Amino acid sequence: METTKELFNEYLDGNSFNGELDEFEKYMMGVVKDSYEVMLQESPESYPEVYLGIVNDYTFNAIAFKYKNNYFIGLNIGLIRIVKNFYNYLFSRNDVFKEIDTSEEQNPDIDINLSELDNYIDTIGDLFNNYDFESVYPKSKERKNNAKHFAANAVSYLFFHEYGHIVHGHLDYSIKTNKNFVFFESNSKNEGNLISQCLEMDADSFAATKTISLIKDPEFWSGSALTTGFSSVFMFQLLSTKIDNLNELSNYSHPIPAIRQMIYLNMVYAFFYQFSEKSAEEIAFKVVDVVLKEHKIVFMDVLGLEKESLAIVNSVNEKVNQHFKIIMNTWNEIRDDLSKYAYGPIAEKKIWK
Ligand SMILES: [Zn+2]
Repeated sequence: METTKELFNEYLDGNSFNGELDEFEKYMMGVVKDSYEVMLQESPESYPEVYLGIVNDYTFNAIAFKYKNNYFIGLNIGLIRIVKNFYNYLFSRNDVFKEIDTSEEQNPDIDINLSELDNYIDTIGDLFNNYDFESVYPKSKERKNNAKHFAANAVSYLFFHEYGHIVHGHLDYSIKTNKNFVFFESNSKNEGNLISQCLEMDADSFAATKTISLIKDPEFWSGSALTTGFSSVFMFQLLSTKIDNLNELSNYSHPIPAIRQMIYLNMVYAFFYQFSEKSAEEIAFKVVDVVLKEHKIVFMDVLGLEKESLAIVNSVNEKVNQHFKIIMNTWNEIRDDLSKYAYGPIAEKKIWK
């Protein structure tokens, strides 16, 4: 009888990662595994176990799949490295999160302008994978710890997103309806993908709620919403392709980052609304304020943007807003079928006008 580790490697044709992780990477994976254990203990007993492995692939991607009746989540080694390099770079800058002591930091001199390239995955992947980041990391202890904390949170968010695909029945539903045995997270372009975008939206909702509520003390929930908001917004950007034509919003496997951000905010709002309407508003506004301010500095600089691209702009466009509602309403069409495959409760139907 094969172990799940062997099955993971078999499914990947021997391409599971066998190398050594450094201390930072081990910390990230440790946080993901601990969060998973805690989540399982607190979830309905029906929630399935998954095997978490690392794929020996240097692109920025994650997968969820089912093989010989076992569930697997694979994170590419490229993704782990890129997230690590990215947060080290971010906290080594003295113009981001200025309230955390920046006296020891000097802005790293990375002379790359990526604005000419077509694809965010290639560009950011190339930059944070191939550029020598060995010496690019924050110098102060506090900023070092923040880089680790945010990086681990970003990867946990993505892990819970994958787990959402499994536990909300997306994977089994897709296997039954179109023989799709695997979910990929890098955005791909093809025709008419509303159902796929809707499943991604639902997986994001699951990840957002799980990562916020993993913190036990409600006093820290608002900070946790901020961290997760910050980490997830960067993940959305890193996973996204550049979309310049607003008439093509339906033609991608994943919603554009601006819409994923809106979904995230909706989840934050709904989460805190259970306790009070006022605190829900306060926290949602704070997340928008901090996350967008800080992440704009970095992305506009790294991507060499002179003005905000459509992928960065947040919900100010009527077409983007309309598309957000179309995705939310697609849920009503697939919700009942999905519930047959889900391992726990899923969202009820709701009409978005
Ligand atoms: Zn997904």
